[in-house]
Amino acid sequence: MRKELEQKLVERWPAWFNVGGDPRQTRMADGFCHGDGWFDILWRLCEDLEPLVAEAEKQTGRPFEVLQVKEKLGGLRFYVNHRTDAISEHITTAELESIRTCEVCGQPGKRREGNWIRTLCDEHSVAHGQENDGLGRQK
Ligand SMILES: [Zn+2]
Repeated sequence: MRKELEQKLVERWPAWFNVGGDPRQTRMADGFCHGDGWFDILWRLCEDLEPLVAEAEKQTGRPFEVLQVKEKLGGLRFYVNHRTDAISEHITTAELESIRTCEVCGQPGKRREGNWIRTLCDEHSVAHGQENDGLGRQK
């Protein structure tokens, strides 16, 4: 995801996304490994999680942390250090939403087979499989 978008999430929830952390402790040091189209899904997920995380932190005394955010098999993956059932439910909802949402632009999309499986709208599926697909993966 573009740095500006990552920065918005990190600035809004600095305790959750330890992007400057030790790569042995958190995969967030790699950034958000997916396209810009899922930014809205993530933002909404984090807003929804806020009260649930506050509750979980109060119960367990452990700070909540997101350990990895990435695309896998065309879907969003959001890994955290601890979760309640309510937190899991919201994460699952976001992951299901991602497999219907173009990873590039956020428009309705569907699963596309190719060099790797992606969720894309019709427009972006045309470029699917090309080396530079505008997702910033070629590091
Ligand atoms: Zn698209």
